[in-house]
Order: sequence, then structure tokens, then C-alpha cells
Amino acid sequence: MTQIPYGRQWIDAEDEAAVLAALRAPMLTQGPATDAFEREIADYVGARHAVAVSSATAGLHLSMMALDLGSGEAITSPITFVATSNTMVQVGLTPVFADIDPDTLTLSPSAVAAAITPATRLLAPVHFAGLPADMTPLKALAGDHGLKIVEDAAHAIGSEYAGGGRVGNGLHADLTVFSFHPVKTMTTGEGGAITTNDAELYERLRMLRSHGITRDPTRLADQPGPWWYEQQAMGLNYRMTDIQAALGSSQLKKLDGFIDRRLAIVADYRRAFAGLDWLTLPPDAGDRRIGWHLFTTQFDFEALGQTRAEVMATLAARGIGSQVHYIPVTRQPWYREHLATDPAAFPNAEAYYCQALSLPLYAAMTDDDVAQVIAAVRALA
Ligand SMILES: *Cc1c(COP(=O)(O)O)cnc(C)c1O
Repeated sequence: MTQIPYGRQWIDAEDEAAVLAALRAPMLTQGPATDAFEREIADYVGARHAVAVSSATAGLHLSMMALDLGSGEAITSPITFVATSNTMVQVGLTPVFADIDPDTLTLSPSAVAAAITPATRLLAPVHFAGLPADMTPLKALAGDHGLKIVEDAAHAIGSEYAGGGRVGNGLHADLTVFSFHPVKTMTTGEGGAITTNDAELYERLRMLRSHGITRDPTRLADQPGPWWYEQQAMGLNYRMTDIQAALGSSQLKKLDGFIDRRLAIVADYRRAFAGLDWLTLPPDAGDRRIGWHLFTTQFDFEALGQTRAEVMATLAARGIGSQVHYIPVTRQPWYREHLATDPAAFPNAEAYYCQALSLPLYAAMTDDDVAQVIAAVRALA
């Protein structure tokens, strides 16, 4: 029996042809295909600039580096992948967690307000499962306290903010980071992008992405000849290859179709699961377009009389993968040891985690796959 995973990529003949063409081009690493992909991403989300990078983790790290915030505190959600807060630690910021709003599963603005101290420098909301965090109050808090905002939009390409506009349009954050890992809504194999409307941050990101080196004649202090370049900042190699960018451009053409398919599957699940009182469905975003990355449900395992491990095993036996997004970062051994995090201080995150289970959601799911998941979940009770 083929297993239906919780998420996976869609790759078609067009994507294969795009990658093959990139392999036959003179330049394999960051080159013209990356420039084109960056322009397309910026246009798609409605931002002035985009910088393609080797992963969203690299993008988060580069964003924190470019903001140059020194030491201080950065606030994020415990319900995220560890990369959000790890990259804070990697630039010398101290992650501070604020609880989620149980209705949206994203950062609670009131919890953020309570977590702000004179040492706070940065807010890093996570657009969990594709649903944007409540940016209006978060942006107001940032304005009041002189904080920068980096959005972790790894899940949220193509999603709309509550007030309209696509995530990453540069109107709600200094920098927005997307992921193109294969389980995300579109893929470049590994890869990510940062979008911004800030021309200075854009130039800084580009320099830091490639060792802190510039060849731009308008930026060079000296120009003794054509061989010349200057390392003006301490950077890394976080470049995307043209092979990945070619795949990205091909995928981006299909992104709205991927999102349509995801929305249709979510609608099927919502209809099929509406009557199950032991199952809480993902937040409802009304008629706003959300590029749902995950179908995160909450099981009342007690009412069901089965543990999460038992439910996962039963689903797996019926060919269905499921996953927990996420173990709260506050529970991770590194965070407990180095930052003395106390998971119990985030009761909404804990309550969510104890019931969390993501069911399969990806554009390449067939109607039969969806029906198989629905039947298996309904048969649990
Ligand atoms: C996937 C993910 C990342 C990291 O993305 P990569 O491209 O794999 O580095 C960061 N944050 C969140 C919330 C993610 O889901």
C-alpha cells in the first residue's frame, strides 16, 4: 500500500524541462535564473525586492544579521519550527516566547505586549499553517516600542493578510521569509526567499548572502581593475543555484493552482469532519484566501479513548501519514538547558500541542487520497 504522507511536492514535466534547461545553461549557481526568480517572487507578493537564498533557515539568519540588532530580546511563538528562534540565538539575540491565541494558533498580541521589555528588539510572528498572524496590533506594538519585524512566512506564500494584500508585501514587516522546502506549498528542492520594501536592507542582504563581498562599482572604495572586489561585511554563502531558481520559476507559475487544490481539499475535510465532536478543525479565515500549508487538527484523545501514538499507528496502518506541528520549542532540551524555558508558562501552546495532529494536505493528493483520509479519520471513533 502506498503511504499518503502529510505533505509532499508536486513536480511535473514542465518543472523537469525547466531544470534540464538550467543544467545546460552556462551558469549553474546564482545567475540570471535567480535574478528572474527574485523578480517574479517580488511581483507575486507585491514587494519591491526579493532575495533568493539556500533555505528559509538561511533567510531567517540573514534577516537577523541584516537588521544588526546587537544583543537583546526577540519575541516569537513556541509553536514553530526551531529555525525561527535558533537563528535569533545565532546572531546573539535572546529568544523570548509569547503564547499563542488558541483561535488562530499564531502569536497572541496581548501575550506579546506582556513580553516586551526595554531589551526587546524584534518581533518574529509565524504565519502558522499558512494563516497570517494578527499583524495590525503586532505592527502597532512594534511602532510603539521601536521594534523590527521579521515574518516567518515559511508556511504562507500566497496567503492574504486580514486587511488584504499578500503576505510579504512589505507593508507589515521589515522582512518576510518564505521556504521552498519540498513539503511547503511550492518547492525549489531546498531554498527560500526574503522580501522587503527597504532598499538598504535589500542591498545588505545581497552582500551578506555572498560572503559580505560586493563588486558593485557604486559601492567600491577603490577600483584598481576588473579583478577587484571588496569584502565590506562579514557574510556567508547562502546563495540559491540557478538550477533551484529555474524550478522555482516553474513552480511559481502553478502556485495559484496549488493553492486552489489545497483550498478544495480543506473544504472537503471541513465538510466531512464537521460533525466529529472530538476533532477541532483549523481556524476559519472566512472568505480570505489562505494558502493552507498544513491541515492542523486538534484531537480530543481522551474522548476518543486513544493516545496520539495509537491514532498515528492506526492511520499509518491505513496508509495515512500524520505529523505533529510542532513540539513547542520551549520543550526542546537545548532551550530548557540554555534559556531555562518553562513550557507550562505557555498554556495555550501546551493545550494545542497535547491535541495536535496534522492530516495530509498537498496539491498532488487525488480525490481518492482525500476520501481515504476522511474514511480513516471517521472510522477512528
Ligand atoms: C520549514 C520551516 C522553516 C525552515 O525552512 P527551511 O527552508 O527548511 O530552512 C522555518 N520556519 C518554519 C515555520 C518552517 O515551517
